[in-house]
Amino acid sequence: MKKGAVFFDRDDTLVKDTGYMYKIADFQWMDGALVALKQLCDAGIAVFIVTNQGGIGKGLFTRQQMQAFHTHLLKEAKKADITITDIAYCPHHPEAVTAEMAIPCACRKPEPGMLRQLARKWDIDLGQSVMIGDRPSDIEAGKRAGCTALQLTDDTYLPDLVTAAIDIIKKA
Ligand SMILES: [Zn+2]
Repeated sequence: MKKGAVFFDRDDTLVKDTGYMYKIADFQWMDGALVALKQLCDAGIAVFIVTNQGGIGKGLFTRQQMQAFHTHLLKEAKKADITITDIAYCPHHPEAVTAEMAIPCACRKPEPGMLRQLARKWDIDLGQSVMIGDRPSDIEAGKRAGCTALQLTDDTYLPDLVTAAIDIIKKA
């Protein structure tokens, strides 16, 4: 039987966004991120990240730099006994420097392509899943994928949203 999962936006949801984030020296968790991720691991719920990285298309950093940043992120999570199952990224951007990277794609949020791709790969039921992010495009991508979407705002604390997400997934 397929299970639900939680899909997180990366920048300003799990990781502090201080500009284009690809330098390991700039890596910092958001407040509550580790607590929130641990809650999910303890509940046996799979965790994914779906992130727009249009800086690649804009030529501001390379896929290799982003991959190194993600390797670091996963290693920092592991130190806290947290497993993040997979990370999907969209390298495209409407203002990308090459025509190939500027094409309208199915992955750049608010498109739901990254969630669908991960759900296929990992046998996840999107109807039982939750998307959490700080931007309207995260919420729209989650809804279009068939998930419940929860928005992180200045007035909400990530572990509280995750508590709500666990309830939603367990009742589904
Ligand atoms: Zn894309």
